[in-house]
Amino acid sequence: MLSELLTSGKLSIKMKLIITLTVILLSGLIISNYINYKSAQYSVRQNLINGILPLTRDNIYTEIQTNLIRPIFLSSLMANDTFLRDWAISGENDPAKITNYLKTIKDKYDFFTTFFISEKTRKYYHFTGVTKIISANDPHDQWYYKFINSGHEYELDVDTNEAAKNTLTIFINHRTLDYHKNLIGVTGVGLKMDKITGLLKSHKKEYGSIVYLVDTDGIVQAHPNEKLSEQADIHKLKGIKDIADTILSSKTDTAMYEFNRNDEHILLTVRYIPEFNWYLFVEIDENSRMGNVMKHIALNLLVGVLISCAVIAICIFVVNHFQSRLEHMAVTDELTGANNRREFDIQFRKSVYNYNRNGMPFSLIIFDIDHFKSINDTMGHITGDSSIKTIATIARSGMRLTDVLVRWGGDEFIILTHGDEDSALFAAERIRKQVETSEFFTRHEEGGEIKCEITISCGVSGFRKGDTLDSILARADAALYRAKTEGRNRIYRG
Ligand code: GH3
Ligand code: MG
Repeated sequence: MLSELLTSGKLSIKMKLIITLTVILLSGLIISNYINYKSAQYSVRQNLINGILPLTRDNIYTEIQTNLIRPIFLSSLMANDTFLRDWAISGENDPAKITNYLKTIKDKYDFFTTFFISEKTRKYYHFTGVTKIISANDPHDQWYYKFINSGHEYELDVDTNEAAKNTLTIFINHRTLDYHKNLIGVTGVGLKMDKITGLLKSHKKEYGSIVYLVDTDGIVQAHPNEKLSEQADIHKLKGIKDIADTILSSKTDTAMYEFNRNDEHILLTVRYIPEFNWYLFVEIDENSRMGNVMKHIALNLLVGVLISCAVIAICIFVVNHFQSRLEHMAVTDELTGANNRREFDIQFRKSVYNYNRNGMPFSLIIFDIDHFKSINDTMGHITGDSSIKTIATIARSGMRLTDVLVRWGGDEFIILTHGDEDSALFAAERIRKQVETSEFFTRHEEGGEIKCEITISCGVSGFRKGDTLDSILARADAALYRAKTEGRNRIYRG
């Protein structure tokens, strides 16, 4: 369609040039910005996949390990403590002793809670005393039965702490055995979940990455958005649910996934933490990372558009400038600045039209420099040229602004003057006199300086009904010829 427009001939060359230039500049701008965008997108993606995501994952892994390894170690110490075991085996007498023991450990290591549950009596010993008897019918106690049947030595479990206003707590439960390896209960410690969620939240705030922990069943155990902790199942979460089974069945230490969630494109890295039997998830929205890049591209585009506008404006200016110069050159004589024959033809046709339509009279004055050959011969061509220029200037000063001065050829000029023959004669006489009295140059000779005078001879003719260019020119020419033959420096009408 554009090529049709450009080849249709309906547009000027200038418009075609501007349209072509605009199309080239704009397409160049769009292509270069598109390439920029694509390469920025590639490097942002590579940076996330190979840098930020694995680094965040491994840093958090170390931080979480540091936070949880000590409680795991201490719950193991408690489970193997001879005092606790002896006290339980010998009939759980004097509960104050175990309460004291639990309180000492809680205070010393700054845990949120410490506990021991007896397999024999099902009493829940807390650092504040016996809080309850656990029961297989109580849904809140199900974890105990699940754990002792699991065969695991210890486990991490996020649960609400009934003994402390149902605060979300990470329990490290440890199996306690007697000296014959028979189960005598479960002991352990509890940490406030805030510690871990605080860590996850700080990562979200500082690095924009969402870090969370998921157990092997797909239940989110810790999340910066606390509403999701201990409740959400990744099999039911938007986007990730399609790859949840793939993630949970992966046996590799670390893996990288991607999925879409609403208008986000999520890059996810997962690391299995064998000590806790949990997975560490770190996810980042790739699109949000492109935000800054998009700002740069928009700025780039803006600068590009401004530069393109400036280039097009300069181009229009240069084309206009040269066009008007060319137009001027096409109708102007270079030496004198007078019009040439082409412009004369146009102006003559206009004048004939006005004469026929409105009766506006016009006349031609044709004049020729007298003995110009000898000026050239004695003074040289350059002086001859400057004389022709000066005469053109004198002629211009003696005519009306609307009159047209034409260099007819060599030392011959025509003035197309708007007025009848008499006023043309009057103007011709004014110019002839001005030339005659003007000082052109002096010639140095042995006898001193000789003033050279220049004169012109004129033929004048008014336009008459039925005239053509040839007929009026013939009359004016004949008058000029007469002026020449009758002594020059004079005017005749023809
Ligand atoms: P006449 O009085 O009969 O007009 O005599 P003339 O010597 O002026 O004769 P004519 O008009 O026929 O010759 C014009 C001369 O002007 C011929 C040419 O050498 C010279 N001439 C024509 N154009 C130019 C020009 O552009 N510059 C210069 N220096 N001389 C020119
Ligand atoms: Mg002449």
